[in-house]
Amino acid sequence: MTQAVCFNCGELKFGSFTECENCHRTPENDDDMAFSMALSDHYFSLEQLNEIGNKIKNGENIKLNDADKQRFISEMKDARKNNDLVKALEGIRQSKSQAKESKGFLKNLIALLVLIAMGVSFVSAVVALFNGNKGSGLAIMHLC
Ligand SMILES: [Zn+2]
Repeated sequence: MTQAVCFNCGELKFGSFTECENCHRTPENDDDMAFSMALSDHYFSLEQLNEIGNKIKNGENIKLNDADKQRFISEMKDARKNNDLVKALEGIRQSKSQAKESKGFLKNLIALLVLIAMGVSFVSAVVALFNGNKGSGLAIMHLC
């Protein structure tokens, strides 16, 4: 779980690359993503994040200096390739969208198919019973 500050409005949010619930912005380009990655509890304490968030809310122009920006952009690109950090940062967004998928229709369809299958096997069981009785009845008649 990553605590981060929204690069756009300064509100605290979970995950650096997630959509902000306050302003609904998602960091999309390298600059925004590098900035968002920097504004997380991986690099700052929660107190510092609150401070940075307040500054952004007050309209102060918070930016990474060019050297830091380049560092975070390259760090982010490295992390993208194979790193638990990005998985953790993006994990929240993935599980959120998965939860949104409704499987109600599929469940109903399966339940209906099960009912039909049960009905069919019930009918064929009755038919088999009837045929079996008739068969044994005939056999008894022959024995007599
Ligand atoms: Zn925001």
